[in-house]
Amino acid sequence: MTPRGTPRAPRPPAVLLLLLAALAALAVLTAACGKDGSPPVKGPEAGALPTYEVDKDFTLPGSPTWERAKRRGYLTVGAKEDQPYLGEKDPASGAYSGFDIEIARMMSASLGFAPATLRFRTIASANRETALQNGQIDFYVGTYTINDNRKKLVGFAGPYYLAGQGLLVRADENDIKGPQDLAGKRVCSAAGSTPYQRIQKDYPKADLVAYDTYSVCVDNLLTYQVDAVTTDDAILIGYAAKVPEELKVVGKPFSQEPYGIGVPKNDNALRFALDDALAAREKNGDWKKAYQATLGLSGVPAPEPPAIDRYPAS
Ligand code: GLU
Repeated sequence: MTPRGTPRAPRPPAVLLLLLAALAALAVLTAACGKDGSPPVKGPEAGALPTYEVDKDFTLPGSPTWERAKRRGYLTVGAKEDQPYLGEKDPASGAYSGFDIEIARMMSASLGFAPATLRFRTIASANRETALQNGQIDFYVGTYTINDNRKKLVGFAGPYYLAGQGLLVRADENDIKGPQDLAGKRVCSAAGSTPYQRIQKDYPKADLVAYDTYSVCVDNLLTYQVDAVTTDDAILIGYAAKVPEELKVVGKPFSQEPYGIGVPKNDNALRFALDDALAAREKNGDWKKAYQATLGLSGVPAPEPPAIDRYPAS
């Protein structure tokens, strides 16, 4: 008989530990494999970015933008700096990364500019047209929807990706499932963006607020200053992935947002050269590699790129 007060034999805890270790090992194994034993839905490491062959002999004498950049010795490309997987700037190194950035890199290589001769400049949604009009940037790659209103002010190569408007809410939000639930809710978007304009026009009962960037909207969502953030699903997925226990994307996309490369309005030569470059990079697999190394890391497999809309010279 075991005397009272005597601690139990050490065997059960040891067995328990072994069992826990086995369970943990199993969990690691299951996480490493997909449901069907395939690798997890992740692209290559973010560090393993593709390199793009530079077309050293390229010339584009019909393009004032290209000629000016050649004389200057570098290209200036407008981008976003706070959109995970798409256009993000590392605050420490100043380096930009993401799918839009890769599109800019492959386009620059096709235009004959080596990686060292490419400079990024952050331009917010509301300032894109002015930046292109006054020559602050040579072209723009940053979740920039092609539409007829904007085409009056700038040109667009592409599209190179098709997104759709969505909604980001806090994880514990149960009332907002789609844009029809926004009446009386505080909804945040970026000034000058198509998602902002759509809510204003189609869902006027929403209490809409605008900031320069979506990351400020997301901060406001996390601190209960607003109830939802609206913009393209591709952008929202990135914010949700950063804090999945606090944020979620809800409902189905409720618009079509074809992403184009913005160019100065009258530079048709540059626009057509970018259309050609895009077609070539889609064909040789660079587009897909770029997607898998960036946006694909969010878990969404590479779609077929949308058809390029080579509209006539203006
Ligand atoms: N694609 C939309 C737009 O161009 C929203 C994203 C953005 O603001 O960049 O307005």
